[in-house]
Amino acid sequence: TVLVQDVCKQYRRGDLVIPVLQDMNLQLEAGDYTALMGPSGSGKSTLLNLIAGLDQPTSGHIYVCGEDLAAASQSALAKWRSRHVGFIFQMYNLIPVLTAYENVELPLTLTPLNRKQRRAQVETALEIVGLSDRKDHYPTQLSGGQEQRVSIARAIATDPTLIVADEPTGDLDAKSGAEILELMRRLNEEFGKTIVMVTHDPRAAACAKRTLQLLDGRLVGDSQVDSKETVV
Ligand code: ATP
Ligand code: MG
Repeated sequence: TVLVQDVCKQYRRGDLVIPVLQDMNLQLEAGDYTALMGPSGSGKSTLLNLIAGLDQPTSGHIYVCGEDLAAASQSALAKWRSRHVGFIFQMYNLIPVLTAYENVELPLTLTPLNRKQRRAQVETALEIVGLSDRKDHYPTQLSGGQEQRVSIARAIATDPTLIVADEPTGDLDAKSGAEILELMRRLNEEFGKTIVMVTHDPRAAACAKRTLQLLDGRLVGDSQVDSKETVV
């Protein structure tokens, strides 16, 4: 479960205080697949980063898997992230000098797993995304869609409970994007991952079970599949 309680987030630029999220209250259940939508600058990435423990709120609380992320130290937060969260970004963020295999293995090197255990996890992850035969390729030798699949393998290699994705199909053509969305659906339905996905793409949002609309740092819409839109 993800519980966002009375969260405000401001950025400071010199003397200027920029309010980005205001009085945000939100609950996501384990196993949910949620899309975050809204215009550019509405605070989607900011909210996603707070839920993933990449950043902390100015005030309020964020409880994820029982941990109050707002109260955690930076080192506790980093440790928590490496155990519980898998990240998928628009531009894949693969390390260019590492092979697909090595990229997927990277988050596992921060765990106590030995080399053999790591290999089993990497191979399973690459198999799930259908890229076992590309494990020795470097990112420049892969298509955008394949790079994103490697990044998904990296996100699931540690078997996290929560997967956050910031515009995962934003840089892909329709066909590759659809493959990525199909993979995300499987992660949710077959593997029970809780997914939070920022997207501008209505087709991507349609794959999620729930869609939250942000506007100027506030939640203005919350709709679930099989139910009518409610405006909050
Ligand atoms: P997009 O769809 O363009 O990615 P977004 O909804 O993800 O937009 P955010 O990245 O969350 O929007 O940004 C929300 C607001 O916060 C913007 O006005 C942005 O300029 C501001 N902002 C984001 N990060 C910072 C930062 N580190 N310092 C100062 N302002 C920031
Ligand atoms: Mg963004």
